[in-house]
Formats: sequence, structure tokens, C-alpha cells
Amino acid sequence: MNQTISHPPFNWDGRPYHSLDSWLKKKYHAKVYKLSLDGQMTCPNRDGTLGNRGCIFCSAGGSGEFSVKYQDTSSIARQIQVAKGLVARKISNGPYIAYFQSFTNTYAPVSRLESLFSQAMAHPEISILSIATRPDCLEPEKINLLARLNRQKPVWVELGLQTIHPKTADFIRRGYPLSVFENAVLRLKAAGLTVIVHLILGLPGEWRGDMLQSVDYVGHFSPAIDGIKLQLLHILNGTDLAEWYKVHPFPLFTMEEYIDFVITCLEYLPPSMVIHRLTGDGPKSLLIAPEWSKNKRQVLNTLARRFKERETWQGRLWMP
Ligand code: SF4
Repeated sequence: MNQTISHPPFNWDGRPYHSLDSWLKKKYHAKVYKLSLDGQMTCPNRDGTLGNRGCIFCSAGGSGEFSVKYQDTSSIARQIQVAKGLVARKISNGPYIAYFQSFTNTYAPVSRLESLFSQAMAHPEISILSIATRPDCLEPEKINLLARLNRQKPVWVELGLQTIHPKTADFIRRGYPLSVFENAVLRLKAAGLTVIVHLILGLPGEWRGDMLQSVDYVGHFSPAIDGIKLQLLHILNGTDLAEWYKVHPFPLFTMEEYIDFVITCLEYLPPSMVIHRLTGDGPKSLLIAPEWSKNKRQVLNTLARRFKERETWQGRLWMP
């Protein structure tokens, strides 16, 4: 019997989606590793400035549990040296991404941000500066700084949107409305910066249709949004979400459900959008649920198998 097998009509290094890995390989002709750096920041949503106790899922590490714990944070060059040591078995001389992930990495005076980011940029093996922050912490002078730095080396700005639905945003105590996000994305893009958006799949009270609406919204914000991170909701010890979950257990994705759903999300995203993350592995020491997410290899193998079985790829159902 003749069976027609469909293939993605794009060159993504053999994968059915436009992964960050394949994008970096094409651009830098090498595997590019992230070096997680500590800017010693906090967050206006945690320190009481916004009248909140932080996002409900945010742990003591400020959503950066895999960040390196440096003994000496005073010099970015020294942090880079230590972080390089951690990936030395895989790569010895770059290129690297300087990644400021934990907390809100534009929540400081411009002079301090300039000093931090310039130190990272000055390192010859750093090819990209990547900064995670909140859209309500991007005053014009901070965007101007990032735009200036972007003329030396690419600057990526990662925004934690999590959901487009106001009811969920209130529940998770995100602390800003969608209009603030939209305004920030447009200003970042007008300044020539690369924008990456983080969404969480599996938030309580959201059905698959709600999550797909968030994914579709981000997809249709392209080309202003360059990349997306899809993160499975993790319930971590020490968070308010963990306390709430104890009293109000809500359904969580099984591995099979999540993988099938995340593939559907990719089908609806534009092929041009770079996929920075598809699951996210929570810190094992803090993870309460879902347990299956600890086995990253199994998750990735199942994902590859399901893509093949469904004969599908990113953008197959994308409608501009
Ligand atoms: S914005 Fe980030 S660091 Fe701040 S409370 Fe939310 S998850 Fe935590």
C-alpha cells in the first residue's frame, strides 16, 4: 500500500519544529550554550512594590532554580568563568549566551544595568545577551540602553506573559494587564530588540481552548515576537501554588496529554517563530507535581515519536 508521509517543508535540522538549537546552529555554525548569570536582582511583584507576594508559582529562586549559585557575584567576568567551567565537558570556548534569568533583570537603575550588561557583552566569547524581565519594568531609558547594547551584540528580552486571560492573570498574581505587555512588545520591537514570550500551560481554571487562545495570540503577534517558551506548569515546594494545590487539587496534564497538546500548539504557531522551550524541567528537589516531568529524556523521546505518528510539524495549521 502506498502511504504518503508528510514532511515539514522547512529546514529545521531534521526536526518537526523550529527549535532554538537549530536556529543557533544555522547562525553560529556551532552549538551555543547559555551561561546563567546572577544580576543580584529582585522583583517588584515580590518585594511588595506592587502590593503582591509574587506570582503564585514563583519560588524563592525567582523562577530561576537552575541558575548557578555564585559565591562571589561582584564580577560578571568571574561568573562567566565559573559558568563556563560547568559546561566545559561539552564546550570550551564559546560561543555562549549570557543569560540573566532569575527575578526581574531590568529592576535596577539604568547605571547599574549598564555596568552589569556591558561587562557580560565585553567578554569575547559571549555572542548574545539574554535578559528575563517583566513588561512593567521597561522604562524608555532602559529600552534605550538595551537598544544601544544591541548594536554591539544581539540582545534578547524574555517576557513572562503566562496567559492572556485576565481571570487567570489575577489568580496567579501576575500584576500587570495585557495592555502593558502589548505596549512593551511594540516598544522593544521598535528599538530593534529580539522578543521572547513565556507562556505556562496547565494553569488552574484554564482549559485547552483557553491555552490555545494564548498561544494563538502570541503567534499572531509575530513578527514583533520572535520566540516562544512553552512551559508545563510545575508545582514547586515553598510556593503559594503548592499550598493552594494541597487544599484544591486540580487536574494536571499526564505526559501523553501534555505532549499531544503541545504538538497541537506548535501546529498553530507560525513556522518562523523560534521555539525556545517545549516543556521545562522543574528542579527535582522542589518538584511536587507532575512527577513525570522529571524524566526529560522520556518526555523528549515521546514527543519525537508522537510528531512522527501524527505526521505533523510546526505551522501546519497556521493561518496568518
Ligand atoms: S515576575 Fe518573575 S520573579 Fe517576579 S514574582 Fe513573578 S515569576 Fe517571580
